Parts: sequence; structure tokens; C-alpha cells
Amino acid sequence: MSMVHTRNPILVLPADVAERIAAGEVIERPVSVVKELVENALDAGAHEVRVEVRGGGLRLMRVTDDGYGIPEDELERACARHTTSKISTVEDLNSLHTLGFRGEALASIAAVSELTLVSRPIETEGLEEEAAAASLTLRGGEVTQRSRRARLHGTTVTVRDLFYNVPARLKFMRGARTETGHILQLMRRYAVGYPGVRFNLTLEETTALQTSGTGDVATTLAELYHLPLSEMLHPVAVEVAGQYRIQGYVGNRALAQSSRQHIMLFINGRWVQSRVLQDALEAGYRGLLPKGKHPLLVFSLQLPTEDVDVNVHPAKTEVKLLHEAEIVAALTQAVQSVLERSPALPTSTDFPGPELVYQRRLPGPHRRGLHVAESAEGYKAEKAPPAAAEVIATLRPLAQLQQAVILAEAPDGSLYLIDQHRAHERVIYEHLRSKHIGVLADESEEGMDSHLLLEPVIIEMKRYQAELLEQRLPMLRDLGLECERFGGRSFLIRSVPAGEGQEQLAGHIHELAEIAAEDSEDWEDHLLIGLACRSAMRRGRVLGIAEQQTLITALANVSAPAVCPHGSPILLHYSRNFLIEKFDW
Ligand code: ADP
Ligand code: MG
Repeated sequence: MSMVHTRNPILVLPADVAERIAAGEVIERPVSVVKELVENALDAGAHEVRVEVRGGGLRLMRVTDDGYGIPEDELERACARHTTSKISTVEDLNSLHTLGFRGEALASIAAVSELTLVSRPIETEGLEEEAAAASLTLRGGEVTQRSRRARLHGTTVTVRDLFYNVPARLKFMRGARTETGHILQLMRRYAVGYPGVRFNLTLEETTALQTSGTGDVATTLAELYHLPLSEMLHPVAVEVAGQYRIQGYVGNRALAQSSRQHIMLFINGRWVQSRVLQDALEAGYRGLLPKGKHPLLVFSLQLPTEDVDVNVHPAKTEVKLLHEAEIVAALTQAVQSVLERSPALPTSTDFPGPELVYQRRLPGPHRRGLHVAESAEGYKAEKAPPAAAEVIATLRPLAQLQQAVILAEAPDGSLYLIDQHRAHERVIYEHLRSKHIGVLADESEEGMDSHLLLEPVIIEMKRYQAELLEQRLPMLRDLGLECERFGGRSFLIRSVPAGEGQEQLAGHIHELAEIAAEDSEDWEDHLLIGLACRSAMRRGRVLGIAEQQTLITALANVSAPAVCPHGSPILLHYSRNFLIEKFDW
């Protein structure tokens, strides 16, 4: 989100605007208070946000920022219902540039707690320190105290005794542990969404999270999760000119986790919860994750503000998108295309690392110069390793293991293991597919060359299969499979696609015919996969160094060298860092 950090006066929303604001309860539990206060800090352009929580949030929650502050004469208005400095007309709802806009959070919190607001506006820079900050306390929505005190510019909001006057709410509160867990999860999202801001969270007097605000998402993720190796995050950057931009990091499948909470999606800087979009991101992993496992994934989507409606739920985490179907497809595609090029890694990792609680103070300067993420900023592929395809072209084969795996060395001294069958399968599949697509697009006149079988094979199909197969005979011919009806439900197959594995294919005619008669839209792709799989060299074949090199070179030229067409890994990468770490060099 391109943040606009200039401050407008806080005003009461006109009735027609207030009526358009999606109604509902904002403050349901302690974590909702933290959320609203952190969003206010970010909207105020803070570079540093500190959060302190005691008694699971019921005793105390305090958020301190170094943002633009609130002038003394606007403090009380800030705590009234439907007062905001962020929008003023109905049209503003269609082009939101701030996280908040409802003008209800402070009022809702003040109504059910004791709330103290201490603020010094940035424009009072010249004033004497003591006179600079004003403080206002409300209990149950009524002003109980006003004072002045010294502080640097920015705002501190302290909320005590939450729900003291709403016993029904208190009764439903779960234990402090549950609530602080939610708060930690929430803070991780903001830390990732705003990598240019330093976040600090203290839970029950212990530092639970701290980021250095360098502006880099990968660094922030490493700080939050103690990730052992930087190559576990694969950068993504897709731009559809003038429409949208997708950026992010796709966690290697070695980072698979048992919960979905590490899939983070931001739309225009706002963390959003959307089952559909989450599913779309996970779909990009296809078969790459074990059942019941979920990825670590951070995606940031930049869309024209008018294509996004956030005014659908009071918590502002649900959105309506104008072109949802298109975005769903783009998200899946973005994840998939990265994983298809990224080798598997040998370690599987539990995170956050062993110490969930982060005690150490992070090194590094306090980078004041870096402003709140113009969120695209955080996604530079800084330290990212080169794409797998480029590396593969530089691999030097060393040996063959178990007559199945090629060991190869990269120029940087890392080791790659290559599954020879899957590599070959991928090469053949992409070859078949490009020919096939060429035929479909009328670009190449002839289809695949065919290899005549010495003895044609007769196959018997079920009735529905026979009908489908009959319709598909011309397409099969283009694929190099000469097939004709032989009366009733029988077919005669005369040829298979010509190529290296043609002899092997002859032994799999029945299986291929079954696929060719599949009642599925994807039958053609399945058939190409079947052909590739059955003609690819098998494990157990001895390869000389020259043959190993030929296969590596062919693999370097495909579009998805890291996974076979079934979605299983082709490459395993033992990085230099991995070796250094494991050998303790
Ligand atoms: P909203 O964020 O929807 O405008 P809130 O009730 O959260 O409504 O806040 C009301 C107003 O108080 C904001 O519009 C903003 O002008 C001011 N405000 C609240 N918190 C801060 C803060 N941390 N720093 C500066 N201004 C703030
Ligand atoms: Mg707000």
C-alpha cells in the first residue's frame, strides 16, 4: 500500500459516510485491541512499534509508536464514535490508503476499558519537552483525567481492565495463553507486512518478538522464524502491467508445517483472510507437501484500490475483489512456477526455532530513514540464490549413484542429486507438450513422428471409453499414436510416438489407451505424462559421464526442471551453507 503519512484533522464523519461503514462489533477480545492500536500506529507512519501485554491482555495492553501523533485539542475527539482523520467522503471508501478508516476503534475500546492516550504531535518539534505531550484518560467512555508530560513525538495508548464493565464478555475469555498466542501470531503478520518497521512485543514481561526493520521481508522472516538457510525462501515477482503486482516468498517444501497460520497474504499492505485465496496459494504446491502439511508463504498483492472492497466486515480482514477468479489463477501459477524451478532441500524444519521466545536483542542500526513499507520495497531478491535453471546449466557430473541418481557439483561448491528417471521424464514431457501445443496452434503442420509397432495391438474398451476414444482418434494420430476402430468396442493400435523410449512404450499400450479414453478434461495432459513416464530411462540404467552431461544439459533447457510432471522432486540440493553448517567448518 502506498502509505500517505500526512495528517489531516480528526473530524466527525458525515452521516451519509457513517451509514456506509460496515456495522458490527470491532472489539471482541484482547487481540482485536492490539490489532486496532497497531494499525493506528502504522497509519501514523511509525518506524517503531512496541507492544506490551500483561494478564493475557485483560490487565494491560500498551502500544507505543513514533508516528505523527495527535494534537492536544483533538485527543478527545479521537476517542468519540465515527471520528477519523483518514476519510471524509463516501468516495474515499473506494480508494483507501490507510489501514483504518472506520473511526470507531478508540471509541469502542474506551467504552469497555480504561484507556489512556499520551501523544505528542510531530509538528511540536520546537516546543519545550515538558509541555509537549498531552494525556487523556477515559474509563467506560467518560473522561476521568487530563495531564501533560514529557515524551518524544508519537503516541502511547494504554488499555487497562478490558471488559471490566462487560461481565458477559469476560466469562467467554479463554486463558491468557490462548490470547497471547493470538497476539503473537498477529504481530508476526504485521512484522512481515511492514518489514521497514521495527516491532517489539513483550508478553508477560518477556520479549516474544523483535524485528530490526531493515525493510527486507526475507530478513524479517529469518528473524521471526529463525530460519536456518536463506535458500529456504524462493522469491516471487509477477507483474501484470497496469493491473496488479504479486510479490513474495515461497517457502521450500522442507518448511512444511502442520498449521495454515504461516500462509500470509497481504492485499495493498493489508493482511487479509480469504479461504479462496489461501487455497489458491496452497494449490501451487500440488503434490509437493505431505498430506495435512501446509507451507510457509508470504505474498503481497498490489491491486488498484478501486478493485478492492475492504468495507465488508468490521475487522477489515475480509475483502471483496473485483477480479477474484483471475487473481486466484495468477496466485496458483506464481507459486507453482517457482516451485517447479526450485530444488528440494534435504532438511525438514520445525519453526519457530527451538526458542519460541526471542530473548536476544538484534544487532543492526536503527534505520530511521526507511519508512513504512511501500510494501513492494521489502521484496528485493537480495540474497536469493540464482534460479535453479541457471545453475543446472553449470553443473558438472561427478558420478552415478545406485544407477539411478546423478551426483553433480555446482561452481559454488554445492552438491546436486538428480533423479535420472524423473529428469528424463520431465525433458520428454516438455518436448511432447511443445510439439502438441504447436499442432493445436497450427504452427507445425505435422504432429509427432510415429514408430510402427511390429505387431499392432488390439485392445478392448468399455462402452463409454470406446465412444470417447473414437472421438479422439485424430488427436491421438497427431500425438504419434495411430489407432483405429476394429469393430464393436475393440481398437487396433499400430504405432507409438517415435523417440528414444519407443521400445519401452510398446509394453504399455493398454495403460496408454486407458488414459486416452479418460473421462476428464485433462486427458491430453495425462496422456503426455503417461507417454513421458513410460518412455523415460529407468532407474537401473548405467550412464557414462557423457550421458550424464547430456541429460543435465537437456534438463537445463526445460521450463520446470525441479519437479517431474507428476509433481515429485527431481533435484535435491546440498548447499554450501548446508555443508558448512552440518560439518561445522
Ligand atoms: P480510524 O483509525 O478508523 O480513523 P480510530 O478510532 O482507530 O479510527 O482512531 C481515530 C483517529 O485517531 C484516527 O483517525 C487518527 O487520526 C487518530 N489516531 C489514533 N491513533 C493514533 C496514533 N497512534 N497516532 C496518530 N494518530 C492516531
Ligand atoms: Mg484505527
